[in-house]
Order: sequence, then C-alpha cells, then structure tokens
Amino acid sequence: MSLLVMKFGGTSVADLARIRNAAGKVLREVEAGHRVIVVVSAMAGRTNELVGWVNEVSALSDAREYDAVVSSGENVTAGLMALTLQEMQVEARSWQGWQVPLETTSAHGAARILAIPRERIDARFAAGMQVAVIAGFQGISPEGRITTLGRGGSDTSAVAFAAAFGAERCDIYTDVDGVYTTDPRITGKARKLDRISYEEMLELASLGAKVLQTRSVELAMRYRVRLQVLSSFGDAPGTLVCDEEDIMESRIISGIAHSRDEAKVTLLSVEDRPGIAAAIFGPLGEAGVNVDMIVQNISEEGRTDMTFSCPVDQVTRAEKALRAAAAEGGLAFANVVTDTDVAKISVVGIGMRSHAGVAARMFRALADEGINIKVITTSEIKISVLVDRKYMELAVQTLHDAFELDKAG
Ligand code: ASP
Ligand code: MG
Repeated sequence: MSLLVMKFGGTSVADLARIRNAAGKVLREVEAGHRVIVVVSAMAGRTNELVGWVNEVSALSDAREYDAVVSSGENVTAGLMALTLQEMQVEARSWQGWQVPLETTSAHGAARILAIPRERIDARFAAGMQVAVIAGFQGISPEGRITTLGRGGSDTSAVAFAAAFGAERCDIYTDVDGVYTTDPRITGKARKLDRISYEEMLELASLGAKVLQTRSVELAMRYRVRLQVLSSFGDAPGTLVCDEEDIMESRIISGIAHSRDEAKVTLLSVEDRPGIAAAIFGPLGEAGVNVDMIVQNISEEGRTDMTFSCPVDQVTRAEKALRAAAAEGGLAFANVVTDTDVAKISVVGIGMRSHAGVAARMFRALADEGINIKVITTSEIKISVLVDRKYMELAVQTLHDAFELDKAG
C-alpha cells in the first residue's frame, strides 16, 4: 500500500473550518487507497503567541522550558485533526513527537533529527489505522526532554517522515499555490513553476523565498523525497521539487530571490597577511553573526580593505565583535564603515552551469536602469548582487524581464 505524507501549515489549520477543509483532502487520499501520515503546524499565529508569553515571563528563558511551551501549539492541532478525521469515519490517531518517538539532538530550540523508528506507527497501520497525525516541529532529546526544530520546523518534520517511511510524495499544503519565479507582490509577471530542482529550491529557500524551511529542502535532496508545494485553498496542482533529471523545461534561470534587510560592512586598511581573514571572521562567527558575501580588495603596501554582508539587525553585534578583537590586539584596522541600506538580489538557475553570459546579461540589465551594484558573488547556479534597498523592487522587475521569466521555458 502506498504512503503519502501531507503537511498542513498554520494558515491551513487556522480554525476548525480550515481543519475540516484539510481533513477533507486527507479523506480523499484515503479513499484513493493511500495510507497517510499527516503532519500539522500550530494554528496560525499560535507559535508567535507562545514565544511571546515565554519572553514576557523570562527574557533569557531556559531553552528546555521554551520548547515545552512552544511545542504545545502543534499538539492541539494534531488532536483536533485526528478528531475531525474520526468524525469523517477515518481511522485516525494523533502522535506527539515523543510518542513516535522522533529522536533529536538536545539543541533545544534548534534540534536536529537523529532518527525516526518506524515500529510503533507501522504496528498501528498494520492494526487498521489509516491516518497517523503527527504534531510537527517537535521531538525528544536523548535526555527525554521535548525539543523543537526551529521556526518553520514542521516542514522538516514532514520531509523526515516521508524519508523514514519511503513515502511516494510529501505534499506541503500552504497558503500559496506553489513556488514562483519571483515574489508575485513585486511583479505581477511572476509565474508559478511546475517543477524546480532541489538545488535551485535550496538556493531560493535560503535566499529568503519563505515557502519552505531551508533544512527541509536539504533533507529532501539528501533522501530524494519528491516534495510538492501547493495551496490548501483550492485543487490546483502545485510545484514539484524534484531531481534535475525530472525537469523537461529547458531554462537557464528559474527564479529571482531578494532579501531586503541586508547590510554591508567594510573594514578599512587591514593588514594583508596570513591569518587575517581568520582574525576577522573568527570573532564574527563566535558572536553569532551570519556572514554572507565576502570580498577582499587587492592590497597596497601590505594593507587591504575587507567587505562582508550580514543581516542588518546583526550589524551592531558585528561592529562590537570587531572592535573587541582589535582591543585585544588580534586585529588592526583603520575604521569600520557600515551601509545598512542595501538589499540582495539573486538570480538562480541550474542552466548557468552550461550557459555563458548570464552574469553579463544581469549586469547589463541593471546598468540600463541606472542601478549601481555594490558587491557581487557567484556560485555554480547563482549570482547575487547587493544594491541600494530603494532599488530592490525595480531590480527584481528588471531582471525578471531580462531573463523572460514570464514565459514558460
Ligand atoms: N509552528 C512552528 C512555527 O511557526 C513550526 C511550523 O509551523 O513549521 O515556527
Ligand atoms: Mg511554515
């Protein structure tokens, strides 16, 4: 009997009517002869509310208790979903993370999945259960405490269950009907993609296209789980995230991602010697600064400038860490210059591997609009630039046109 994983995000289970709507979709799959593992998020807004309560009680909260509180939203939805399915004459049972058990590390608030033993759920399927409803986002540590997988972690729960149970597909139901060539709020020409490769989705997810938690895509890629992103508010097929070989469309660029809240930091006149990069990025790493792009200038008379980008809300922390390192004597520079009004635009596509000229086309299009590029980085399937934040929308629209993403490939 084939097995399907169906994951419903917060907006798809926001109230009882929506839970009923989601349950109706599960019923249809059961009637089509599938066994189903349903993974649910907390009702929309609930996790934020729980996090807010924890912070109000205790600003530097004990991470174990944070997880105890914050994981509870999913428990409610799982139980309600099981009850709703039972009302539809479906043999359904809910499972909290520890009951499965979904075993994780003890990194509370950002735990990683270690294993999902199948025995208990398989035994219940064998005894007639049709649907297992799993509370997403949560697991149990080796110490026996409840853990959570980080915000958006139910996606990762769903993919992990799909991998563990060899599911035919993992359907991620959300409030958008798929993955788009770019944010449809920025250009009306954005087009829904039928398929996208894991590699491209990974780039888009980590670049701020918020449809899927990045880790869930990594996991899907590693275990070759076919993922479908689709809306729970209609019946249209969504976007399939799959192997590159399964994509027929030939296109060079698949999507354009943007990230609004970036900052650029430049260290002026640092010594150009072995170990200097380590002396800069070591302290930044220890301070928890997520450095993204890095550019080192050519040096003159043994000194150079080093520029990097990071999220804008980490700039103060970054500056502090650098000044502290300088005070301790491990690092010397003339000054730190920050630019907190930048955004990052990235074009992503596996076709870049085999096609030359993508960078030139991108830079030409931006130049024609008078948009100045401040930093450039590239990888095998991605080119990213930093531009002034006020040009972000224009840059996305311009590139969407330049690569003709409104036309099917
Ligand atoms: N409810 C959790 C969150 O909002 C997990 C999830 O929905 O994926 O982060
Ligand atoms: Mg989500």
